Amino acid sequence: MSFPIICQIPAFAGMSDEQNRKKVLSQPFKPKEDELFRTLWEAQAGKCALCGEDMPQNRFETAHSTLWKKLRPTFDHIKPRSKGGPDTPENLQLAHARCNKIKGNK
Ligand SMILES: [Zn+2]
Repeated sequence: MSFPIICQIPAFAGMSDEQNRKKVLSQPFKPKEDELFRTLWEAQAGKCALCGEDMPQNRFETAHSTLWKKLRPTFDHIKPRSKGGPDTPENLQLAHARCNKIKGNK
């Protein structure tokens, strides 16, 4: 008696590790924002624009998802949108979600 060959179903066969990694890295951002994120990330050397501490680049660099939610890099408007600040790269910087939130509450 023979069994059907189920190990050859190409479910994840087409997805390389590199593609998976990129998918994870770009998850919190829209594809359009991804390039901007990288530009800002490199310009700031991965540091928060508000407190100057390192930011985790992806969820797997943090020990806990709760920590990730606080420390994840977010786009911060240097001049707030509420005060007419534009959505241009010149008016954007990266900051921890928690720092961005603290600033936003002021
Ligand atoms: Zn910060």
